[in-house]
Amino acid sequence: MSKHDYISDGSPASSRTTVESLRERPRAKVLIIGGGINGVGTFRDLALQGVDVALVERGDYCQGASGASSHMIHGGIRYLENGEFRLVKESVTERNGLLRLAPHYVKPLKTTIPIFSTFSGVLAAPLRFLTHKQHGTPKERGAFGGTVPRHEFKGRTKALQELPRLNPGVKYTATYFDASVHNPERLTLDVLQDGQKAAGGNGTARAANYVSVTGIGDEGVQLRDELTGEMFSFTADVIVNTTGAWVDLTNEALGSPSQFMGGTKGSHIVLDHPALFDACQGSEIFFEHTDGRIVLIYPMGDRVLVGTTDIRADMDEDAVCTDEEITYFFDLIKHVFPDITITRESIVYSFAGVRPLPRDDAEHPGFVSRDYRIEHGDREIAGTNVPVLSLVGGKWTTFRALSEHMTNDVLTILGHKRKISTAKLPIGGGADFPPTETDIQAWIARRVSDDLDAARVEGLLTRYGTRATDVITYLAAGEDRILHSTRELSLREIEFMVRHEQIGHLIDVLIRRTSLAFRGLVTAELLTELAQALAGPLGWDTARVAQEITHAQDVLRRFHGVPVHSPIS
Ligand SMILES: Cc1cc2nc3c(=O)[nH]c(=O)nc-3n(C[C@H](O)[C@H](O)[C@H](O)COP(=O)(O)OP(=O)(O)OC[C@H]3O[C@@H](n4cnc5c(N)ncnc54)[C@H](O)[C@@H]3O)c2cc1C
Repeated sequence: MSKHDYISDGSPASSRTTVESLRERPRAKVLIIGGGINGVGTFRDLALQGVDVALVERGDYCQGASGASSHMIHGGIRYLENGEFRLVKESVTERNGLLRLAPHYVKPLKTTIPIFSTFSGVLAAPLRFLTHKQHGTPKERGAFGGTVPRHEFKGRTKALQELPRLNPGVKYTATYFDASVHNPERLTLDVLQDGQKAAGGNGTARAANYVSVTGIGDEGVQLRDELTGEMFSFTADVIVNTTGAWVDLTNEALGSPSQFMGGTKGSHIVLDHPALFDACQGSEIFFEHTDGRIVLIYPMGDRVLVGTTDIRADMDEDAVCTDEEITYFFDLIKHVFPDITITRESIVYSFAGVRPLPRDDAEHPGFVSRDYRIEHGDREIAGTNVPVLSLVGGKWTTFRALSEHMTNDVLTILGHKRKISTAKLPIGGGADFPPTETDIQAWIARRVSDDLDAARVEGLLTRYGTRATDVITYLAAGEDRILHSTRELSLREIEFMVRHEQIGHLIDVLIRRTSLAFRGLVTAELLTELAQALAGPLGWDTARVAQEITHAQDVLRRFHGVPVHSPIS
């Protein structure tokens, strides 16, 4: 089994209305293949321009590279080393934009670089840049509204005062502010829902997960409903291939093979380790490891994220974090915090993904260009020549700008004019998000009721941004109960997710609608209770509930290194 091709007995029509609509009206102006952040971003932009657009994702949204990133929305100053100035400029602009447009999920990130040797190595260029900036105009500071301190250099003594467990061999530290995305999976959903909302329910912005492109037939592109196994054809005037590291495989399925991609695998582990967490003092530790790679130790919530590797990927194999990579991570922690001992028991979750990088024969994968390009091709489909646009590359940070470029290319082909720019449009639950901690507390206080205490309202605001208002209204409209196995979810909230968030499998809720798996909070009891809670609204029978539990256990064990023992029945 791969995590992509699990076929079940089928789910009720109610959860698959979009798939039905794709079957009933099997054409659109644009078909986007791939529901990672770049496909979804392009979907939103095209829908906002009033273009009839359909998107299909073979698994769940954000299950590819978009769900495997280091969570950084970064200015990308390290790309200065590769001379990628265009990308750096765009990344800084986009990072600053996302801090304003999606403040519910994108937050400033304090980053500290410990330096052990001299101004050489991969981080030399960024450091020279920072040093230079230190004496120049701190242009970037304005982006944070002047509320975030600028970069700072500290000598050994001060650095060790601030981070006492740091390797005493440190020469100095550099600290600056970047940004991070706390909930990439939910941000992807927000972008998707913005697109659906833009079409105002008129059926011109249709997106379906668990639908894959499998090939091409006489009547169009062949689609397969991955929940039922049913096949159907679909046609469009333009095809957008945003299948990330799978772009070449998708083009092959479309009958026009390409050799654009040369992805590299990167893994991460998530640790429950209070001493390591404290040692970071709230800062992401970003540094050059002894092998010259840039790696990170990043306290997130009450866990610590450690990554990442950069290994040429074999697309025939599933990307998983290997034992060897875990040893590498332990090594890099030892390098920075030599007196902290980590054992495998502290790992609560691991994940891996393939970066959709352009094909390149560079000896060191870390030096492959991180910039993106759009390849234009065409393919005869159902008797017509159809332009096929393939995205090669494209980081999380730059998804909005990339989507704008892709949309502009599509609009040119269709002969349409852009109606609206996404540069200043708030994203989903980022709209009217309370800007300060005081405003956040006031927002929460206004929504506390007999049924919802402050902690629960805060949890909803964190999960949905200001879209939490819709959830709260939904919760209040019927009888509700918090699950026994987690204080974070209630029966009606799960029902809300089923209605609005296209849940195909139990695992979607654990990994992508919530962060329960990431934080290592999945228990056998939770699996059972959640599967039973989903069963009603999704129409699952007992056999399907059992199947979903086994499937979730399998995915957690094989792809995330999490053993969850069978529920006691
Ligand atoms: C380890 C790692 C760390 C990273 N860290 C960062 C970071 O800190 N900051 C940053 O900005 N970027 C980072 N990136 C890069 C970033 O995550 C990716 O470049 C970005 O998410 C790519 O998005 P995408 O939509 O193009 O591709 P993907 O997210 O991979 O989406 C492609 C989708 O296409 C689907 N698909 C494939 N074949 C088919 C088919 N036949 N039919 C239908 N659907 C199909 C897949 O299921 C997948 O969901 C990182 C990437 C990795 C792997």
